[in-house]
Amino acid sequence: GALGELETKLVDCRACPRLVAWREQVAVVKRSSFRDWEYWARPVPGFGPADAPLALIGLAPAAHGGNRTGRIFTGDPSGEVLYAALYEVGLASQPTATHRGDGLALHGVRITVPVHCAPPDNRPSVGERDTCRPWLARELELLRPGLRVVVALGGFAWQALLPVLADAGWSLPRPRPKFGHGAQVLLTDARSGRDLYLLGCYHPSQRNVSTHTLTVPMLHTVLRHAAQLAGV
Ligand code: SF4
Repeated sequence: GALGELETKLVDCRACPRLVAWREQVAVVKRSSFRDWEYWARPVPGFGPADAPLALIGLAPAAHGGNRTGRIFTGDPSGEVLYAALYEVGLASQPTATHRGDGLALHGVRITVPVHCAPPDNRPSVGERDTCRPWLARELELLRPGLRVVVALGGFAWQALLPVLADAGWSLPRPRPKFGHGAQVLLTDARSGRDLYLLGCYHPSQRNVSTHTLTVPMLHTVLRHAAQLAGV
């Protein structure tokens, strides 16, 4: 389908020199526990069905997670928390994500990122975010016919999403809504009159989880609410 074609093009992207260098460098140096792995070392596409009414937007692939396995949030601590929660609320077929081909399937939810290549220190620059924006815009456009809820996992995703949604014709409140855990904004498509909910949720990063900024029950609550709004 169209989403598959988009992914085929995406994985060849080399538009950000710093990120291309980093994603390939960590694949050579590796982490000792993964020394037998042949790292993916390319842009990591979104994951989940093309007709998903719910989209989760993260940050960027982890150097030794998605950048190693080739599937977003797969094989890293953030993904351990996220996929376990998705399974708990009925959106994933299994609680663990270790590699492509591990049998994991998502129900009614698509997971993607505003920056598709692993950045040093998990920090993409504003320029890299803007360079990668057309990929996010195209993916959301393809999901759009069935899309009802978008969850920004963290402030970076929120900031990346607002211009994409505005450019795509969703009416955003003014002043621009601020990111927060539990934030909820109702957007309307000026063309079709359809509604879209934008929700905020802290990113399930190791740091947020270890400091209890984001607890597992907090994550369950947002995901359950999002699934309910999306009719999943
Ligand atoms: Fe291309 Fe996005 Fe990767 Fe930059 S971050 S190289 S725009 S896929």
